Amino acid sequence: MKTQNLSDISIQYLKGVGPQRKKVFERLGVETIEDLLYFFPRHYEDRRQMTPLAKLKVGEWQTVTGKIANHSGRRSWYTKKHVYEVEVGDATSRVFCVWFNRPYLDRYFKAGQQIVVYGKVDIYKDRFQIVSPDYEIIADDEEDRALSVDRIVPVYPMTRGMTQRSLRKAVKQCLEKYASSLQDILPYDIRTKYALHNLVKSLWSIHFPDKPEDQAVAYRRVSFEEFFLFQISVLLRRQSIVTKDGIAHAISDEFCRDFERLFSFVLTQSQKDVIREVAKDLKSNSPMHRLLQGDVGCGKTVVAFFGCLASVRNGYQAAIMAPTEILARQHYENLVKTIAGSPFRDIRPCLLISDLDVKSRAQALAAIQEGAIDIVVGTHALIQDAVNFRSLSFVVIDEQHKFGVRQRALLSAKGKNPDVLVMTATPIPRTLCLTLYGDLDVSTISEIPPGRGSLCTTLFAQQDAGKAYEIVRQAVARGEQTYIVYPIIDESEDLDLKSAQEMYKTLQKGELKGFRLGLLHGQMKKQQTQDVMRQFLNKELDVLVATTVLEVGVDVPNATVMVVEHADRFGLAQLHQLRGRIGRGALDAQCVLVADLATPQAQARLEVLLSTRDGFQIAQQDLLIRGPGEFFGRHQHGLNELRIANPQTQLDILEEARQEAIGILAKDPKLSDVNHAIIQKTILKRYPSYLGNILSG
Ligand code: ADP
Ligand code: MG
Repeated sequence: MKTQNLSDISIQYLKGVGPQRKKVFERLGVETIEDLLYFFPRHYEDRRQMTPLAKLKVGEWQTVTGKIANHSGRRSWYTKKHVYEVEVGDATSRVFCVWFNRPYLDRYFKAGQQIVVYGKVDIYKDRFQIVSPDYEIIADDEEDRALSVDRIVPVYPMTRGMTQRSLRKAVKQCLEKYASSLQDILPYDIRTKYALHNLVKSLWSIHFPDKPEDQAVAYRRVSFEEFFLFQISVLLRRQSIVTKDGIAHAISDEFCRDFERLFSFVLTQSQKDVIREVAKDLKSNSPMHRLLQGDVGCGKTVVAFFGCLASVRNGYQAAIMAPTEILARQHYENLVKTIAGSPFRDIRPCLLISDLDVKSRAQALAAIQEGAIDIVVGTHALIQDAVNFRSLSFVVIDEQHKFGVRQRALLSAKGKNPDVLVMTATPIPRTLCLTLYGDLDVSTISEIPPGRGSLCTTLFAQQDAGKAYEIVRQAVARGEQTYIVYPIIDESEDLDLKSAQEMYKTLQKGELKGFRLGLLHGQMKKQQTQDVMRQFLNKELDVLVATTVLEVGVDVPNATVMVVEHADRFGLAQLHQLRGRIGRGALDAQCVLVADLATPQAQARLEVLLSTRDGFQIAQQDLLIRGPGEFFGRHQHGLNELRIANPQTQLDILEEARQEAIGILAKDPKLSDVNHAIIQKTILKRYPSYLGNILSG
């Protein structure tokens, strides 16, 4: 039988998936049968044995089931919120499910339906209550029951218009009809060596495990496969970089002298050392691929500028890509200011972001293509197809953990083997670094520039937030500026947290009346964001109320106080990044964490921040306290290509896969052996933009 290519078969071939449903699937990133087979549950619910309602344990997260007895909505006279309530009963007792401000829920429930709910059980007015539970209505048909109750049930990521129920059905259909024609990528000998199950069996266990152990074994197998392919791609890339012809830049002593004079400060020894490493790479004929690590505020931007100016002085163009518009704009303005009136004043920089109007964008693109622009600073807008450089020789990717390998590669591909510098403030343990970024050399800036004021961090309980505002008022009275950070943008129905928007108004009317407040969050219009940032920079605002959009890069030396409310909601590494926004100038700075200190653990965790300012140490502590799984988060490790495997928790698998990848490439560097055809094909499909020429060439 000819094997079908499941990545070519549209999801529409499934029963019950028409054009409408197809669109909903696309929102989940599922377009083909293969996508769906690899669309894995977010978590599982063990519904093999449900707790009878009479045996519910208060304070615990539980899954329960029962029939809907009543459902109704009303407005609370006390909080003015809309309260929607569903009473669920079984033979033993009943529980009340409650939602706030969601009157539309009414249309989903009917008395008599069976429902499964998951949430934290409380007691309210002498009855069991679950606030905002996850819920699922079980249809009255055999198939649905078979997939949704009395078993371990997969819970998938969701989108509007989709239900767990229909996803489960689609996945099951897919497994039954197509899974057997999947070709196993992992060679048989590797599978035996590491006792990995075959692919089809693994996929069944991931979607519909019979026991929790099955699911774990299956994940091991698919993670191995993903790491294996990923490591092959890293190794191939490394191979191709070392062997490619790059651009040899000339760097004169005079250039270096002029460069150092650009700044009002003396470069730190660390900065000088790293610049020397970068200069060496720039001069060499093989392309640079270097990771620059260094704690917040250590002055990485200077190194980036060095490379850019060197590139331009050799007649080429340079580009700096940053993850947010605020940051891109800041780099751009910093660059303009730095070269003004210097021997580099002839250099023409431009800012390329996504919200330029049509005309300015066209002009910028033309100028970049003609070479009328020397240095382009921008966001993701830089990697769009329409952006063409005349001769790009140096590329910087700032806060690189916010980007993926692919995006890095797309930017480099705009030049002919340019030198690439990627920068990050997230310290990465060395072993992990080697495996993950095996294609990069590593430089580290280890000192913070002298002359910084002190930074002290204090911790207040939530009810003492008033003291924090007093510290803000005092700072403003001294002519300094302040940040107040919240974990969420607006009042959310599910969380009882202060939000940036709401507190912006509340503080303006109360605690910070008469002060000049600004608001900054990720959902504001671009223009508004810029206006607010500009006002803050120009000292037209005293207090910036914000969300974590502040997290990366923002540099306003006059800002000396940062209050973070609900600090327990943030990761330590993230708080450290946030705190890096203050204490950047000569003035003494103070960071005030306001947090719910309900447990000793919560307190101990935050106290790490009080005792040290060293990002590496904080990261290590975070790792110890939270366990590796949550440390980087999916996005943080910067490997957006990895969909399933997690390098933090599965380092052992990663290392095994790496060994096997090395083994295979040693025997068959271009994967041209027929037995490796499927590996080659998959790699080309998964990493096409930057590996195609390596394997075919
Ligand atoms: P990061 O490494 O976090 O990106 P930046 O490059 O934004 O840090 O630098 C932080 C601040 O320190 C900037 O205001 C910058 O001008 C300043 N700075 C950089 N190097 C030095 C130095 N050697 N001495 C004093 N200040 C410096
Ligand atoms: Mg920076």
